Amino acid sequence: MNKKETFDLIVIGSGAAGIISSIVAARNGKSVLLLEKLSQIASKLKATGGGRCNLTNTLSNEDFMARFGRDGRFMQDALKDFDHKDLVSFFNAIGVDTHAPDGFRIFPTSHSSVTIITALEKEMQRLGITVICKQKVEEISLIDASIASVTTQTHTYWTTNLILATGGLGYPVLGAEGDGHTMATSIGHKVTDLHPAMMPLKTKETWVANCRADTIAKVTLKVDIKKHKKLRAKGDLIFTKTGVRGPVILDFAREVTPLLEKYGEVPLLLNLTKGMNEEEISQHIKRAFMQNPHAEIVEVVTSLLPLALSEEICKLAGVNPHATNKEFQGEKKVKLIQLLTWTPLTISGHDGFKLAMITRGGIHLKEIDPKTMQSKLIKGLYFCGEIMNLDGPCGGYNLQWSFASGNLAGKLL
Ligand SMILES: Cc1cc2nc3c(=O)[nH]c(=O)nc-3n(C[C@H](O)[C@H](O)[C@H](O)COP(=O)(O)OP(=O)(O)OC[C@H]3O[C@@H](n4cnc5c(N)ncnc54)[C@H](O)[C@@H]3O)c2cc1C
Repeated sequence: MNKKETFDLIVIGSGAAGIISSIVAARNGKSVLLLEKLSQIASKLKATGGGRCNLTNTLSNEDFMARFGRDGRFMQDALKDFDHKDLVSFFNAIGVDTHAPDGFRIFPTSHSSVTIITALEKEMQRLGITVICKQKVEEISLIDASIASVTTQTHTYWTTNLILATGGLGYPVLGAEGDGHTMATSIGHKVTDLHPAMMPLKTKETWVANCRADTIAKVTLKVDIKKHKKLRAKGDLIFTKTGVRGPVILDFAREVTPLLEKYGEVPLLLNLTKGMNEEEISQHIKRAFMQNPHAEIVEVVTSLLPLALSEEICKLAGVNPHATNKEFQGEKKVKLIQLLTWTPLTISGHDGFKLAMITRGGIHLKEIDPKTMQSKLIKGLYFCGEIMNLDGPCGGYNLQWSFASGNLAGKLL
């Protein structure tokens, strides 16, 4: 055996989870090898928060876990050891200042994920962690149900401790393509069904393209299927060339995907007027015409919505956007007010994992010890980050979970 290629710990994957686990293990005196298949480390981390990196948020651990659904409690021990305050202290200690501009989401003060990655890289160098890029791990070998080695296209590296931090399946161009799931399955672990989550959605209606980049704040949306009327969400929405994106859509996508599979299309109703009801909209229009009796209807609607969207809503109502108050009466007026209260939009599909920020599903949690992140099946094997079957909403949840689980795994308990 080549002595140089034997390590106390090998970590596969240099995302948030893999990097922090390497640092924690090295701080505890372990020799660590971090293997990354891309040509540089932390590609997904770099892209987070639109390059601003929403690291975590200020929720209490209880509320945080609740936002992950019924398996959220799996995170209890990891969060107890590394909550959002610990995360902030960790980064402050390696020279990254953070802040919460909206009092909830925490970012590096620089508003650049590069600051985070540079600081992590420096810390790994200081600790003497061996980082090798362009090394795609293809196989994990066991001896007597314990970790023995990993093999890439060119090398075999030996260890008794292995952390699988290869992420999910979303945004494959950023590295995570499900290799970890395949390797874990090959040594006896089970993977749940995997679904893309947190992604833009396509609409049947093509008029959205005319409103491309229009951002609408505080949109309320609800599913217009009798059995699913309770599914609602609120937040900012952005129109795209083929549909809709923005925080409210990213989060709501997880509700919509199963319905898409079931029904083929999902009709939604959107309130784009900050929650105004028919009466309020009617009064608003009345006041606007009183102030400017010669106004065209589209001018009045633009006091509620951006111009392109106002024109589209007028068209949908069959109203000439240039009609004046006199010409704009009766059924068409009723229709326009109805459409401004609830605008119909039909979700027809999405781009799958290609643009999914998160993967729903992963390694079965019942096969992982939540107190250590160690596999219950294989001695010396640990998991952290998105590879596991846990996913949270938008707002720093998924990075906090990656860092917290990485911290716990790196302790090699
Ligand atoms: C565009 C985008 C923006 C996001 N923004 C935010 C945000 O602001 N806040 C937030 O909380 N969450 C955000 N998320 C989600 C968050 O980034 C992820 O949940 C988190 O980064 C997952 O970290 P990870 O370490 O588990 O996996 P990853 O970051 O995916 O890292 C896995 C690494 O493993 C490597 N790898 C895979 N297979 C192999 C192999 N066989 N051999 C060697 N290496 C391998 C990959 O190349 C990759 O570098 C965002 C996601 C995306 C896609």
